[in-house]
Amino acid sequence: NSSTRESRVMAQMEINGGASPPKKPGKGQSAADQDMITGLINKALQAKEFAYCPYSNFRVGAALMTNDGRVFTGCNVENACYNLGVCAERTAILKAVSEGYESFRAIAVSSDLQDQFISPCGACRQVMREFGTGWDVFLTKVDGSYVRMTVDELLPMSFGPDDLKKKKVFSLQNGHEVSTQFYTHSPCEAGENNN
Ligand SMILES: [Zn+2]
Repeated sequence: NSSTRESRVMAQMEINGGASPPKKPGKGQSAADQDMITGLINKALQAKEFAYCPYSNFRVGAALMTNDGRVFTGCNVENACYNLGVCAERTAILKAVSEGYESFRAIAVSSDLQDQFISPCGACRQVMREFGTGWDVFLTKVDGSYVRMTVDELLPMSFGPDDLKKKKVFSLQNGHEVSTQFYTHSPCEAGENNN
């Protein structure tokens, strides 16, 4: 049942109380860290106000902090063609990347859920992972309380940019490799170099 699941998650993850008013810093966490976290969660809660979700009526907000402290916000944006809806997390990440930022420190995600920490969908986890596995994701409740996880914890054993560069075997004959190729950049560039 859900309470068992939540208590198991709580045993594994760092969980903190409401973002407002700020609580004492957690173990190993400075007051500055706590201020950053509280501020980022508040921005995610504010970003939720812009959610365009006439079909699901499920508002989500996100606030993404770059390594140099800049914050990009996002909300979910739905569409009459349901498949084209975009999540808040990806909205924030695409905004940041489109303005030249690719190094991220943390993202906070907010929703209207009272009793459950909002959790990124699989697609958003993969898009986060594109930009590293060690940065923080804050899953929040509407009161600002949160669970802190890393991208790697949310998407273990993931596939990322480095995997494209690893050695491949295209076919085997009598157990021997007949064709191998190392991709150093993109598959397209590597193919062109062989011409
Ligand atoms: Zn998503």
